[in-house]
Amino acid sequence: MTPRTQAEIISVGDELLTGLTVNNNAAFIGQKLTELGYEIRWISTVGDDPETLKIALKQAYDRASVVVVTGGLGPTHDDITKRVVSHFFDSKIVFRPDLLVKLEERFRKMEREMNPANQTQADVPEKATLIENEIGTAVGFVFAKENRTFFVLPGVPSEMRRMMEKSVLPQLQRGGGGQVFRSALLRTAGISESELYEQLQGVPENFPDVKLSFLPQLPGVTMRLSTYGSSAEACEKKLNQDKAVIQKRVGKFVYGEGDISLEGVVAGLLLERKLTIAVAESCTGGLVSHKLTNVPGSSGYFNRGVVAYSNKAKTEILCVPEKTIRDHGAVSSETALAMSDGVRRISGTDIGISTTGIAGPGGGTSEKPVGLVFIGYTDKNRSFFEKHHSPRDRAWNKERSAVAALDLVRRVLLGYV
Ligand code: ATP
Ligand code: MG
Repeated sequence: MTPRTQAEIISVGDELLTGLTVNNNAAFIGQKLTELGYEIRWISTVGDDPETLKIALKQAYDRASVVVVTGGLGPTHDDITKRVVSHFFDSKIVFRPDLLVKLEERFRKMEREMNPANQTQADVPEKATLIENEIGTAVGFVFAKENRTFFVLPGVPSEMRRMMEKSVLPQLQRGGGGQVFRSALLRTAGISESELYEQLQGVPENFPDVKLSFLPQLPGVTMRLSTYGSSAEACEKKLNQDKAVIQKRVGKFVYGEGDISLEGVVAGLLLERKLTIAVAESCTGGLVSHKLTNVPGSSGYFNRGVVAYSNKAKTEILCVPEKTIRDHGAVSSETALAMSDGVRRISGTDIGISTTGIAGPGGGTSEKPVGLVFIGYTDKNRSFFEKHHSPRDRAWNKERSAVAALDLVRRVLLGYV
């Protein structure tokens, strides 16, 4: 395989170091360059300090063929990039009357006074090619030297993006070593990262060209498959072969591919089968209903959600027998089942589901610890429960419990349980 061209990103700005601004520019540029086949091994972030920027430029120059620098191109005293990069490339800064005319015109159109600081934006490096900025006042620069190309763009995200899309990326289109990049996301629920890894033993070795990474975050672990190839078709073929093997091993945990939500998948299944659902929630406080109703068209399957938090609410609204709660506790399989039975009965839906658990941080005991949740499921054929326990903080416990309830419905509808 042809080696990929090395690219780097340098982000400039004190606010990026102090955490005031999240470095979304680097994420955007990284993604775009990767898609074109470039390899990025370094992203540097430096403050508004000439010495540090100089070091970053030198290091990037020694390692990469393509470098994108953003930030600090404006007209204020802390905007040092133009000066430092020009000096790095031994370029004088010259005044361009034609640019001043353009700037004056722009300010006239915006009906804004142009101040002397803005006039410095007509001063540009002599050795650079300019990149037009259609929506801002700071132009961008391209410096080329010894097979290296440095693109220098403003930090304002909208301006940077526009200039990347219109000027930088078209110039870089053919430079990524002739390689095309493709990736796919497989979303799972109900399986941990380590279990997934265990069940996929040998798969990465069988597909050495496809990089498989695990990204754990609720509702579950996302698997990212990525590859490079000579064409999009070649990449897709490799990805599809790998995906088929993964599906065979852990398919029942994969709820979907790409940008899809678990509740969206559950909603799709309910609609497709013309089934209705009602939800009885205790520890999730309405989260399951919230998720189900986040999907457009939810009235097609969602009948009601009852938040029955107190024991009284459970008996009064859902007809959970007082004795069940007294004998087994509100957090128990018996109460969960009585809740899913109850909500299905009072609403007349095909399916009833329930959640009852201990969200924490208080209220846990050795028998019923924080994070413990029972999910009840009832339809016309059967009534059963699942018990989950994977404790973290309160918000996470609620979210995790809601996800468990939704995934249970998914697995039932697909015949996995
Ligand atoms: P201007 O002409 O507006 O001064 P500039 O090139 O000097 O442009 P900066 O002053 O560095 O840009 O940043 C302008 C705005 O863009 C700030 O609000 C800053 O927080 C934001 N910004 C800068 N760099 C980044 C980045 N890497 N990621 C996200 N936002 C950024
Ligand atoms: Mg600025």
